[in-house]
Amino acid sequence: IRVRPLTCTETRRGDQRVVHSLGDGAVHVSAARHDATFGFSAVFDAGASQEAVFEGSGMRRLVELAIDGFSCTVFAFGQTGSGKTYTLMGPLAQSDTQPASPALLGLMQRSFTCLLEQSRSRGSDLALSASYLEIYNEQIRDLLIPGPPCALPLRWSKTRGFYVENQLSVEFDSLEAIVSLLLQGSQRRRTSAHALNRHSSRSHALLTIHIRSRAHHPPPWVLQAGACPSKQGTLCFVDLAGSERVKETGSSGELSVEANSINRSLLALGHCISLLAKPRGKRTHIPYRDSKLTRLLARSLGGSGITLMVACISPSSRCLSETLSTLHYASRARRVTSRP
Ligand code: ADP
Ligand code: MG
Repeated sequence: IRVRPLTCTETRRGDQRVVHSLGDGAVHVSAARHDATFGFSAVFDAGASQEAVFEGSGMRRLVELAIDGFSCTVFAFGQTGSGKTYTLMGPLAQSDTQPASPALLGLMQRSFTCLLEQSRSRGSDLALSASYLEIYNEQIRDLLIPGPPCALPLRWSKTRGFYVENQLSVEFDSLEAIVSLLLQGSQRRRTSAHALNRHSSRSHALLTIHIRSRAHHPPPWVLQAGACPSKQGTLCFVDLAGSERVKETGSSGELSVEANSINRSLLALGHCISLLAKPRGKRTHIPYRDSKLTRLLARSLGGSGITLMVACISPSSRCLSETLSTLHYASRARRVTSRP
């Protein structure tokens, strides 16, 4: 759980802080008619630095597991304006001109650094490539293909599961290269300004790093005995569009169409998570097909993947009901087990 600081606007209008970290993964919400404590693996309070979140969330371990060939996913979710994009990318994604100070870099850039360091220390036998997609109004768009966005088909096959056809995958071997892909893609992302956040993301974005360990090629006579197989892992970063109540954000027309498709896909995600959280014996069919988002996340959620969820919340009294709903959602998600 990450609790962001109160914003200037919230402080100015006198919002109360209703969320407090109690230490040891406990977070306490107290307001007039609510008093609840939740437990999580880790809680980062408003004062926590970006580095503390990276080190304390298990992100480094996730990068290592991806290098070892696992499918790893980290996703940030929570109300619009709760700090999802900040946690993943830092404030840098919001200004085109000034690069952010290194201390403010988010989980993504820190993971890239870690990945490239590991790659160097292993004598660069890792082949790295990235793809970057967004789901906007239930359409999948490639954020790395230049020009106007075009929708890509989502397909299913027995061997690959759900996959996006014709998505671009760009090789990289330096931090500058991958950060520049991230920036280019983020600028193409669909955002609109509304009451809760001036740069609100109106789409779900998925950046996937494909990591292939090149097989060592031993001389032909040892091939039979101990050829090192190549491994293929992925590290996927998911920045979900925020949940919101249409009334509160002043959304109308096109914005309310967007809000409805965002809410519908988040609902589908929540539904899958609730079902996945049930004990295996009692589990019914999981409706991944209900939205593009759940189809793309099917493997991360319930299959063979390893997933880190960062639930972002605002401490403000005005966000109380959304905060409680995020905390309940996160508590359910915590009970999901996968078999990596
Ligand atoms: P979301 O992506 O959830 O809609 P953002 O990440 O865009 O929200 O955050 C909303 C605002 O709050 C931004 O101006 C961001 O810079 C600020 N913010 C979020 N989290 C933090 C934090 N931990 N520390 C300082 N500012 C933050
Ligand atoms: Mg955002």
